[in-house]
Amino acid sequence: MEDKKQNDDYLKQFIGETTGNIDEMKQEVSEIHKDLEEINEKMPFNSNNLDYLNVDLNSLPLGMFYKQGFKIKIRSAKVHEVQAYSVVDDKNLLDVTEKMNQLLASCVKVDLPNGQKGSYKDIKDGDRLQIVFMIRELTFQSGNSLAKDVQCDYCSHEFSIPFRATANSKTPKTFTSFDMPEEMKKFYNPSDRTFDFEINGGVFKLSPPTIGIQEIFYEDIKMKVEQKKTPNVSFLKVIPFLLVDRVTITKEGIAAKEKEFKNYDMKTFQILNHAVDKMVFGLKGLKMKCPECGQEVHTDMTFPDGASSLFIVSNPFDYFT
Ligand SMILES: [Zn+2]
Repeated sequence: MEDKKQNDDYLKQFIGETTGNIDEMKQEVSEIHKDLEEINEKMPFNSNNLDYLNVDLNSLPLGMFYKQGFKIKIRSAKVHEVQAYSVVDDKNLLDVTEKMNQLLASCVKVDLPNGQKGSYKDIKDGDRLQIVFMIRELTFQSGNSLAKDVQCDYCSHEFSIPFRATANSKTPKTFTSFDMPEEMKKFYNPSDRTFDFEINGGVFKLSPPTIGIQEIFYEDIKMKVEQKKTPNVSFLKVIPFLLVDRVTITKEGIAAKEKEFKNYDMKTFQILNHAVDKMVFGLKGLKMKCPECGQEVHTDMTFPDGASSLFIVSNPFDYFT
């Protein structure tokens, strides 16, 4: 925008000094703009460190829910993005979610199976944390250790497990994900990447919700709480799983879905509600072999210093010198 203004100022100045064809010049300036845009499009960043890398979908906790042709690319975070993220309020889960989404909005590119461009909103909500960590690991390639102290259950040795979404030369991947529950396996449809339930002659397709849908439902809950209305928790729990791969829904759409939900018969409600209870996917915790006895030690996924610490270098004097 600033360049356009400068060019326009230059153009005005130039017009004052010449009797040339103004339209022709405007045309030239607009062509220069177009060229610049094309160059920017091709080389969005000056540094090689900011190249986009393909994410192996099989490495994501919810990889099995992306259709053939879905692609996620990520790049490392820039300083101003790290700054914006690091003011997150650790005690406020909505703020943590919002700040993570902002980071994804900048550092993620998505290609949809139909060839169109998507966005971070098309990513499954349950993969958010894994991708934030992948961006973190790209940003601090020389290793910014964030680790959790544990004690081995077998030999009582005390050590720490680093948070690693991907392996590097020094550390293996330490993240673990939830497995598909045994009773859900027979409902999985590998071509549509959904769970399919035939109820009363119809088919209900379920898939873990996208970030886009969850953002809209969070907003809806926030609004209802502010208006002192009681959100329909049962509806809010089940319905996002039925909006397969969608990233948006209107207020009217939500109202229509709520009406539909209230009209389910007992069988439909019980099956869908149970299915959603079983659809716990995403990051589960950390694991690493005890350096003393070699047994695998597990711990949960909470951050010792809160979510704000993810992009803060704990040892900047050593790291940057
Ligand atoms: Zn041990």
